[in-house]
Amino acid sequence: MLELTQEIRNTIRNVPDFPKAGINFKDITPIFYNQTLCTKIADGFISQMSEKPDAIIGIESRGFLFGFMMANKLGIPFVLIRKAGKLPYKKIAVEYELEYGVSKIEMHEDALKKGWKVLIHDDLLATGGTAAAAADLVKKLDATVLGFNFVVGLDFLNGKEKLIKHSNNIVCLVNY
Ligand code: AMP
Repeated sequence: MLELTQEIRNTIRNVPDFPKAGINFKDITPIFYNQTLCTKIADGFISQMSEKPDAIIGIESRGFLFGFMMANKLGIPFVLIRKAGKLPYKKIAVEYELEYGVSKIEMHEDALKKGWKVLIHDDLLATGGTAAAAADLVKKLDATVLGFNFVVGLDFLNGKEKLIKHSNNIVCLVNY
């Protein structure tokens, strides 16, 4: 796992001052040029799961990439959480606070069966607001959060604190 962490760290591109001054953006797109690394990342996530989830939830949009890959490898459903106004069918929504203002994410109302245990995935854990809102959506459908996983965790933003009330099973392959 240490080797994998180092390889991801070497592959991620740091883009200073994007999308605004002071943010060091972790660009994961170079990872997708390396099929072997993608497979290692999906397998790395799977090897750290304590039990097989009933579904993987991916958060728009970079959470769709490894989220779908994991679900497909495990042979389980993949569920999309999208920003407001993008999903076509009947849906449930949660609003959450950003640094400035609010945002809203949605999931189809029939996306999860009652009692399912699901894993929530995104590319990066920053303040934890988005992943915590995703967990709220899961709970609205009477499903359970088995855990969270992220390629990158920005530890200095303490995102885990917002997630722990949903599950303390939080995996980040690389931490900054
Ligand atoms: P948060 O709700 O604060 O945990 O933000 C998480 C979401 O914002 C994820 O979907 C990330 O893709 C994105 N994000 C936040 N900060 C960064 C960053 N420094 N680099 C890349 N993506 C980021």
